[in-house]
Amino acid sequence: MSSAISFNQVSKTFPPNVHALQSINLEVAEGEFLVVVGPSGCGKSTLLRLVAGLENQTHGSIDIFGKDSGQLAPQERDLGMVFQNYALFPHLSVFDNMAYGLQVRRESAPEIRKKVERIAQKLEILEFLRRKPNQLSGGQRQRVALGRLLARDPKIHLFDEPLGNLDPQFRAGMRSELARLHQERPRTTIYVTHDQAEAMTLGQRICVLRKGEVLQVGTPEEIYDLPSHRFVAEFFGSPGVNCIDGKIDKKEGSPSKFRSGSIQFPLPNHDMPTGSITLGIRPENWTLSAPENGAITGVIERVENLGDHRLIGVLIDDLNIFIKTTRSDFKEKDTVSISPQWEQAHWFERYTGKRI
Ligand code: ATP
Repeated sequence: MSSAISFNQVSKTFPPNVHALQSINLEVAEGEFLVVVGPSGCGKSTLLRLVAGLENQTHGSIDIFGKDSGQLAPQERDLGMVFQNYALFPHLSVFDNMAYGLQVRRESAPEIRKKVERIAQKLEILEFLRRKPNQLSGGQRQRVALGRLLARDPKIHLFDEPLGNLDPQFRAGMRSELARLHQERPRTTIYVTHDQAEAMTLGQRICVLRKGEVLQVGTPEEIYDLPSHRFVAEFFGSPGVNCIDGKIDKKEGSPSKFRSGSIQFPLPNHDMPTGSITLGIRPENWTLSAPENGAITGVIERVENLGDHRLIGVLIDDLNIFIKTTRSDFKEKDTVSISPQWEQAHWFERYTGKRI
């Protein structure tokens, strides 16, 4: 697939010296749904605003369908944006909000009516076409904002936390609606969110940003199974990977050990480098059992019943580990043994956080 949007060494600095984006290299393929995810302030909105032409980068270039965006005025970029706060015209009816882009393009009135009604039907807002935005609920307004974009159907769709204001149930519904619409009409899409679950479920690929830098770009499977950085490991999953700082010790004639404070895990793998390291194990990759001699034991601090599984917080000395289990026979204050499923272990450099 050819590149629709290409970031080449893009940096954005706001005065006096806020480095919102630093040397971003990123390709978005034509028709791809790319989710950009990261914590508050990492530069997600800035990245979108650069594509939209609402800001200019300080360094580097952005190509849109092979043209340098510096040569393209915002209205020449054939893109549409949906924000968290809807940004609907308050004085226009839902119909006119959705028709606006088509009227600007001077499409005929019957054509406009046909398009708006078809999209409104899909989004189940047909009955609201005469209302003004302030006569709608948040979820309905969100659908109007989406409908406005879909009616105009630009080549590039930009979403900035569009489901941020919705309640969790409605969010899930809109998420599958967006995924379905994209499957039907695969437009090049950049979708910004700080919600890892939204990123995992919507993105064909995910770009993880932290402090203005790209940490990893990959499919949801790659991001979950092979996090390139400790931050990515801790960010994805609910909760994320348990990361334990420690050291690997090797002694002649005895198995290598991973040591964190007073806790020692014997390692099955003898090829591990010695020295400072961070061990990462997902909550679903621990085995919990009744206390056994020689095993690592801890005390259950908290049990959360999440219906189909339980999330168990185990305290081992001063180390807190979260473990997911489908077993229901563990209680708070029980002493238990835990062991990592070593084949699922992630190892990171202790000081840089990079995957080893
Ligand atoms: P959030 O999830 O909270 O919306 P974000 O990841 O979208 O955050 P941005 O809005 O892109 O982050 O902001 C990135 C950084 O740039 C932040 O530190 C922010 O304070 C700063 N910033 C954004 N816009 C401006 C501006 N116009 N002037 C100065 N600093 C700005």
